[in-house]
Amino acid sequence: MATGGQVFLPEKDLLALNPKGLSGFIEELRKSETQTRHLRKRLEALQDKSARACPACGRPVAGRSDAIYCRSECRVRAYRESRRNGYSRIKSIS
Ligand SMILES: [Zn+2]
Repeated sequence: MATGGQVFLPEKDLLALNPKGLSGFIEELRKSETQTRHLRKRLEALQDKSARACPACGRPVAGRSDAIYCRSECRVRAYRESRRNGYSRIKSIS
């Protein structure tokens, strides 16, 4: 299905698919989208010599100029750690 970064399915094949069986396929596509995006951001960060370092993992941050973390996992991790270590004593709902 995925050859050389291209994903293509002819319309007649799409119409022949069982809509009930698409969840796994959609999930696969979503994963590869995420991986592609992470790779692109890493490459952009490598290309960008002025990139800031991510406070969570130290890798360079690419993309939006106001981005602090290199990816959402780092942002979430930093947020969780600030909750655990810090100022907020409010009981976590999660
Ligand atoms: Zn990071």
